[in-house]
Amino acid sequence: LVDKRKNNYKIYNKKLFIDKVEFESLHQDLIQAINNEDLFLEFQPKVNTYSERIVSFEALIRWNHCNKGIIQPDEFISIAEKTGMIKKIGVWVLDQTFKQLEEWEKIGFDDIVISINMSEIELNDPNIIKIIKKISSSYSIANKKIEFEITERSFKEVSTDVMNELKRMGFLISLDDFGTGYSSLSYFGKSPFDLLKLDKIFIDNIYKEKSRLIVESVINLAHKFDVKVIAEGVETKEQLEILRKIECDYIQGYYFYKPMSASKITVILNNLKKN
Ligand code: C2E
Ligand code: CA
Ligand code: CA
Ligand code: CA
Repeated sequence: LVDKRKNNYKIYNKKLFIDKVEFESLHQDLIQAINNEDLFLEFQPKVNTYSERIVSFEALIRWNHCNKGIIQPDEFISIAEKTGMIKKIGVWVLDQTFKQLEEWEKIGFDDIVISINMSEIELNDPNIIKIIKKISSSYSIANKKIEFEITERSFKEVSTDVMNELKRMGFLISLDDFGTGYSSLSYFGKSPFDLLKLDKIFIDNIYKEKSRLIVESVINLAHKFDVKVIAEGVETKEQLEILRKIECDYIQGYYFYKPMSASKITVILNNLKKN
């Protein structure tokens, strides 16, 4: 897809190129969306590879657009990043996550961890630590219940001071979309992350011997650095079985659970407690 028209922004959104008019219109709608509470979070469980028990959740944002219906993040996060709106959205996501943890704690689920996605634009805001401290202090939830997912591409753009401070405050950090960036191996030993998220692309190809060997080596290396590994986008039993053999710690993917509303998660948690 190449946009040949002149005088147009070419905005790559993974799925589509949109023109300047559409960009501006979505930008304006997004400003309204925050005020109108049209954004919401879904939560996707992550499970232990062996026990298959839920170990944590990833919060994923969605936008309930007044006339376009539900819009997925791939279609608006990049717009929000280009306009700086992502900072407001990020604050909303973090606040919402603390709120959700508080709600689950109130009904007896007090050992839940939620991860949220943070882009480099949010983390490079000079006030980011102050902003996070302020939100954190308005809830009675421990910071260790929140994990920041930072993509491998963003990682090198974010100051180590900020990441070290987040760690010092008790937050967990994971290296998201691992394998899609460039200087992958140099992160080991240098950066303070607790968890490595293997990108879906490796999982899609894990049937192939070469891909499996790469994944296996990454897992072994990570374990030597005390870093746990989670596979993203696991969709089949065969993939799960291979990941078991090569000792991947955690699994996230449609094979077990899709992203769901908080109320659906609550039902699942209640059912698991009964059994
Ligand atoms: P991501 O962080 O890599 O999130 C994983 C994506 O894979 C999610 O898409 C999830 O729904 C999808 N997924 C999970 N399991 C499977 C599977 O088995 N098969 C397939 N085909 N897909 C699976 P989603 O929710 O559309 O999010 C897309 C991206 O948008 C995320 O990629 C993340 O980079 C970004 N994003 C989502 N929420 C936020 C947010 O609150 N803030 C920021 N800055 N970015 C966000
Ligand atoms: Ca993620
Ligand atoms: Ca990812
Ligand atoms: Ca991704």
